Amino acid sequence: MILKENRGRAIVWFRKDLRILDNPCLDFALRAGKEIIPVFIWDKNEGGQWSPGATSRWWLRNTLDSLRSSFEELGGKLIFRTGKAEKILPMVVSETNPDSVYFSRVYDPAGLVTQNSVENALEKKGIAVYSFNASLLNEPWEIKNGTGRPFQVFTPYWKVSRGGIHREPASYKPSDISFANEPIQSQRLEELDLLPNHPWPEKLSEHWNVSEAAGHELIAQTAEVLTRSYSSHRNIPSVEGTSRLSPYLAWGLVSPRQICQAVLQAQRKDNAKGVEDYLAEIGWREFSYHLLYHFPSIPDRPLRPKYANFPWRKDRGALQKWKYGRTGYPLVDAGMHQLYETGWMHNRVRMVVASFLVKHLLLSWTEGAKWFWDTLVDADLASNTQGWQWAAGCGADAAPYFRIFNPILQGEKFDRDGRYVKYWIPSLSNMPSKWIFRPWKADPLLLRKHDIKLGIHYPMPCVDHSRARTRALAALNSLASKD
Ligand SMILES: Cc1cc2nc3c(=O)[nH]c(=O)nc-3n(C[C@H](O)[C@H](O)[C@H](O)COP(=O)(O)OP(=O)(O)OC[C@H]3O[C@@H](n4cnc5c(N)ncnc54)[C@H](O)[C@@H]3O)c2cc1C
Repeated sequence: MILKENRGRAIVWFRKDLRILDNPCLDFALRAGKEIIPVFIWDKNEGGQWSPGATSRWWLRNTLDSLRSSFEELGGKLIFRTGKAEKILPMVVSETNPDSVYFSRVYDPAGLVTQNSVENALEKKGIAVYSFNASLLNEPWEIKNGTGRPFQVFTPYWKVSRGGIHREPASYKPSDISFANEPIQSQRLEELDLLPNHPWPEKLSEHWNVSEAAGHELIAQTAEVLTRSYSSHRNIPSVEGTSRLSPYLAWGLVSPRQICQAVLQAQRKDNAKGVEDYLAEIGWREFSYHLLYHFPSIPDRPLRPKYANFPWRKDRGALQKWKYGRTGYPLVDAGMHQLYETGWMHNRVRMVVASFLVKHLLLSWTEGAKWFWDTLVDADLASNTQGWQWAAGCGADAAPYFRIFNPILQGEKFDRDGRYVKYWIPSLSNMPSKWIFRPWKADPLLLRKHDIKLGIHYPMPCVDHSRARTRALAALNSLASKD
């Protein structure tokens, strides 16, 4: 129950918890009877090279627009400022005279530094600071292995972490917020300058509805419908077999708790496996945060030190071909086109394109991680780092070094009729399914019949699969012997 008695005012500093519902900061501040001053501070340099990329900023811009409207409907105003939070928040405190600041914790190295500086600066001013977990099911330090250390393998991690998920009723639903009502200086959202100077991200609007409410529609669909087919469909990129909740989670438009509660509440006999498989994916997100928190250097350095001196090749031409989907391997190229067009790529295809970059092309996983960082709507430092180090074999619970995804067989297995490839590479849409993943092997007469000129309508393969595989195994073998 929310107390109506006014007991001072509080700044709620929004970070990666850009929502109204299930927001512990709002909830606790309201329970303490505070008048609320909601503030968002944009520091474009906070993450250094891991400051939000172009697509992520597009998502953030639209999220803030939506959150601003939500506050307006509730009778309040979201205050925007730019600069370093440790400088700006004390200024807002001086201007508005609150007694406390509430915020949700983040777990990336730069965010943690900011958090500490903010706490110090506010405590010096005599302001009470309360922080909460709004992004994870479990705090990274709460889950420990038998010897009290962080886990580095997913299955035992999840065994412990899964135990903490319950079908609790949803909570934190503020419907009646009292706001500090004198005018407070705010920048305009446009002044945050979040959108890039080229029109490329505009097309993202065709694919995404960016709002807290849209996130909840997806949660409902996931719980009621998707979990029934999740186990059998989640690896098939041509069907909408996964929830697409990742960008909503990345900026906290919805919380993992809300998702877990919804799917557990909708659990029945016919979707029980789907629910568990789905929760385990949320578990991979948790595991990624666990790793990033305990090993903060991993966005830039391999978790397994022996990979630090791996002889990655430097080949700008090959990197460009990979980025823009011109490798000549249709499943890889289709994935890169999907990414560029929509800001999202199916997880199965992410694994294939990542493996192709690091193993077929022998280019560093950090190059791939950076490109994903700039082009994904769900760019998330923990999950992106974990995904790339997994693919490169240099992270926790990583793919064994000798596992080299064959982009032809992966296509034949997971995109049997080539629908995904044909959709994202229209120049191959007439290609018979038999040759869709290796068009260069098709009879030239057949290619002519379907009006496909390799090298013109679609590129020849940029590397030979068997030779690339042998080269990668040789490089990786030399490292494996260092164990
Ligand atoms: C190389 C590589 C890079 C990746 N980069 C990111 C990234 O920047 N941001 C990101 O959110 N995910 C990343 N992933 C993980 C995964 O591909 C996406 O989370 C997933 O495709 C999102 O789609 P969805 O919401 O439909 O997933 P669903 O299948 O519906 O899963 C539900 C949720 O579980 C989480 N999840 C699912 N799979 C994973 C996974 N393997 N690792 C961590 N969390 C997972 C996501 O939060 C997702 O929204 C990456 C994977 C790889 C292989």
